Amino acid sequence: MLEESPGTRVDTVLAKLGKALEQGDIDAAVNLFQADCYWRDLVAFTWNLKTMEGQDQIRDMLTTQLAAIKPARLRQDEKEPASAGAGVTEGWFEFETEVARGHGHIRLRNGLIWTLLTTMTELKGHEEPKGLRRPLGAEHGHDPDRKTWKEKREAEAAELGYTTQPYAVIIGGGQGGIALGARLRQLGVPTIIIEKNERPGDSWRKRYKSLCLHDPVWYDHLPYIPFPENWPVFAPKDKIGDWLEMYTRVMELNYWSSTLCKSARYDEATEEWTVIVERNGEEVVLRPKQLVLATGMSGKPNVPKLEGQDIFKGEQQHSSQHPGPDAYRGKKVVVIGSNNSAHDICAALWEGGADVTMVQRSSTHIVRSDTLMEIGLGDLYSERALAAGVTTRKADLIFASLPYRIMHEFQIPLYEKMRERDAKFYADLQKAGFMLDWGADGSGLFMKYLRRGSGYYIDVGACDLVIDGSIKLKSGSDVSHLTEDAVVLKDGTVLPADLVVYATGYGSMNGWAADLISKDVADKVGKVWGLGSDTPKDPGPWEGEQRNMWKPTQQEALWFHGGNLHQSRHYSQYLSLQLKARCEGISTPVYGLQERHHLS
Ligand SMILES: Cc1cc2nc3c(=O)[nH]c(=O)nc-3n(C[C@H](O)[C@H](O)[C@H](O)COP(=O)(O)OP(=O)(O)OC[C@H]3O[C@@H](n4cnc5c(N)ncnc54)[C@H](O)[C@@H]3O)c2cc1C
Repeated sequence: MLEESPGTRVDTVLAKLGKALEQGDIDAAVNLFQADCYWRDLVAFTWNLKTMEGQDQIRDMLTTQLAAIKPARLRQDEKEPASAGAGVTEGWFEFETEVARGHGHIRLRNGLIWTLLTTMTELKGHEEPKGLRRPLGAEHGHDPDRKTWKEKREAEAAELGYTTQPYAVIIGGGQGGIALGARLRQLGVPTIIIEKNERPGDSWRKRYKSLCLHDPVWYDHLPYIPFPENWPVFAPKDKIGDWLEMYTRVMELNYWSSTLCKSARYDEATEEWTVIVERNGEEVVLRPKQLVLATGMSGKPNVPKLEGQDIFKGEQQHSSQHPGPDAYRGKKVVVIGSNNSAHDICAALWEGGADVTMVQRSSTHIVRSDTLMEIGLGDLYSERALAAGVTTRKADLIFASLPYRIMHEFQIPLYEKMRERDAKFYADLQKAGFMLDWGADGSGLFMKYLRRGSGYYIDVGACDLVIDGSIKLKSGSDVSHLTEDAVVLKDGTVLPADLVVYATGYGSMNGWAADLISKDVADKVGKVWGLGSDTPKDPGPWEGEQRNMWKPTQQEALWFHGGNLHQSRHYSQYLSLQLKARCEGISTPVYGLQERHHLS
């Protein structure tokens, strides 16, 4: 008997699934899944970001949502051939709901569904004006009252926030606010981005002088305007700053720079926010329906409180305030911390002629940049991936199709390979006294990032300086206190210092909600970020998605957006669709609203 092709296998299951969903036959739909199964939905079925794990959760979601969502026309995507390997058949599909169109990915094992991804791509009747729908630009014909594009843009900019109100306000105009603003602009959602810095891109420009992106260009594109083919693999921070500034302008964003958001309050009765901002020294009150905090997960510095900080006579800086090495030639610098910022800052200080000591308080995951690019990212984000037809969009969806519950199982073998490839490097680091780890379960960098957003360094050279002793290392002991001219460790070591840099990371984004809205609202929402994996700094319970990011929260009309460039690009799509639907009065029944867990 001839074996079925992967395409036929996918077709068969999709046809049955589509029929069951259209007929509201929940049992038939659930029975198409194997016992160990996952359905990850990005907005299309749940108006939420939600992963259903196992048949019971899938049944529950369908029981609650199916009648309202009305899925239809589930069919294999003809442009993306199905494939098979290692007992798994994979395919792509398209579908519709009553109000939207979507795209999905399916993995089959033994003819049953193992993983299913459903994503919303556009709202019917509210498609983006692109391709055949692109605007004409010129207005042909005759009109004595004709206004140019420039005049219209200027009028809009002058009116929005003063005589007309935005539907959405985004606090924070880093890459997160900018990417979301661009998508909302294309969807016709009146939006203002509030940014306290003078220029778009300043959040990158103001970081330490030596910083280049740690992630490669293929991973970093913004929506709509990908970086050109000659863009460097690892963009220097000021170049990214300039790109964001250009992007903000050409994407016609209503970007209020030099504007500080001072407070925001939600009125449950009017279902409206009152956002008080200071723009050019003048107080302006905005009244949007939706408020997005895009204030950065690396924006709220964690500075440890240490005895003696008040009597220390030298300089003390959080890593976010560190200007670079120029003023510290010949000075003694103690850098507290051993993650990305600590390594970058130590290396630049050493290059600048400072005498640098890194204090490593707990173990760090290290992975060499070229190894990470090749083994960790190469299949999805690289020239190799592009040559194999894996576009950025496809890569984003493949990545999204792996449920977080099992993602570590895909990651562990990759990190085992990396450990093997760079065995001598790791042995040398350990010989130098560096405390290494590979994440709680050996799953490495991405899982650490998703779980806790910290605890790693992508090595671009600083490790060699640690290995050869150029950067002095004190590991295994925490700081006890500061004296007038030194940092004293708990093991009694005294490290003379002219400058102390606290490379001690950043606090949860819900701290911004406490600062700008109220502690009550911050507590109502709970911790932002993390999967609930019950690994260090990611307390349970298991969430299955990143807490409170890009989805409805316990505070009506309050949203959090951000993350790295990949996440800003990918998840801004789903957040923008959620906001657009509300703006248009489309019913958005949320399934499985995020519960509150942990206060910070
Ligand atoms: C040293 C370092 C290296 C990094 N390397 C990478 C990398 O290689 N790739 C990557 O993708 N990510 C990297 N990151 C993570 C990086 O922080 C984020 O990717 C990025 O900056 C997040 O963008 P964002 O827009 O979410 O936040 P931010 O860039 O932090 O932007 C938040 C903005 O909010 C503004 N803001 C805050 N409060 C207010 C207020 N009250 N009123 C008005 N404006 C306000 C701030 O001024 C800021 O501009 C790095 C981070 C650090 C610290």
